Amino acid sequence: MSIESRRREIAREAKAIVALAFRNGPIEDLHGGRPCPTCAGRGGFSRITDDEIKAIIKHAVNHVYQLLVLRDENPVEYERKIQFGERYTAKWDKPEMPRRRHHPAGL
Ligand SMILES: [Zn+2]
Repeated sequence: MSIESRRREIAREAKAIVALAFRNGPIEDLHGGRPCPTCAGRGGFSRITDDEIKAIIKHAVNHVYQLLVLRDENPVEYERKIQFGERYTAKWDKPEMPRRRHHPAGL
């Protein structure tokens, strides 16, 4: 397989993994509902509580862990899950290789 076609496959998996681990997680509930009249669209407000960020990260870690284990131990089930995740990603941008860190370590 060429590098280009392998990268296309990895891009497909990356988007599906984010859909499964992040988009379809606790962040959905935070995003739902009416915009906050005070802070919607404005910086300078803490809009996610410590418990909420912990729940988002915990959900993401558990699902990425599950997917990486499946990729090793049960590639058929891994592919089934990736195909399910792809239902959400058809209109997403293609991934780009990050050039540098966006956040300091330990966030
Ligand atoms: Zn607010």
